[in-house]
Amino acid sequence: MDPKTLHKISYGLYIVCSKEGEKINGQIANALFQITSEPPTIAVSINKQNLTHEYIEKSKCFTVSILSEKAPLTFIGNFGFKSGRDIDKFKDVEFKLGNSKVPLVLDYALACLETKLIDKIDVGTHTIFIGNVEDAEVLSEEKPMTYEFYHKVKGGYSPKTAPTYSGEVDRARKKEEKKMDKYVCKVCGYVYEPEKGDPDNGVAPGTKFEDVPEDWVCPVCGARKEDFEKE
Ligand code: FE
Repeated sequence: MDPKTLHKISYGLYIVCSKEGEKINGQIANALFQITSEPPTIAVSINKQNLTHEYIEKSKCFTVSILSEKAPLTFIGNFGFKSGRDIDKFKDVEFKLGNSKVPLVLDYALACLETKLIDKIDVGTHTIFIGNVEDAEVLSEEKPMTYEFYHKVKGGYSPKTAPTYSGEVDRARKKEEKKMDKYVCKVCGYVYEPEKGDPDNGVAPGTKFEDVPEDWVCPVCGARKEDFEKE
């Protein structure tokens, strides 16, 4: 079996949020899709280890923000590679509370929707949550971020808890890209590519890793420069 086959399936990139009482949390999800239009329902696959999973189980509602191509890696990393158990993911993020008091992330979102949980399916490491769409709003006409765009253009990787994570494929892909001196974040696997730089954070394309400012941090997980190693 060629595991790369599964990487030919296309996805978007979303922030799924939920709550427990007054506490709120959100995370990146890519395995999300519409199931029916009458009534409008969607499904999302969430890892059982994640705090958002716990919150959806308890509150029986979740929201979805559909991310635009403009979303920077730092922003995605905040929701995708960090846990709401350790940090407040909403600290510098613009959001509003929906009818169910679950946050809807507005930054880099081109649309958002609110759902009520109507069913769930246990699929081992993950649960597929099925939600009835109760409210929905278009926020901008930007292009939606696809998972392929995130990987190829932005240089992003999957955390181990993502439904689409494949260590084998991610490692193979990193090998293929080996031409110049690239540096890998030991914490999250983000690869600094000199040709691309990190323009979102003031590092111009073509900047050697050695010349990246010392106070620069991993755009995905926030690790320091010393936590990088040559690939
Ligand atoms: Fe990192």
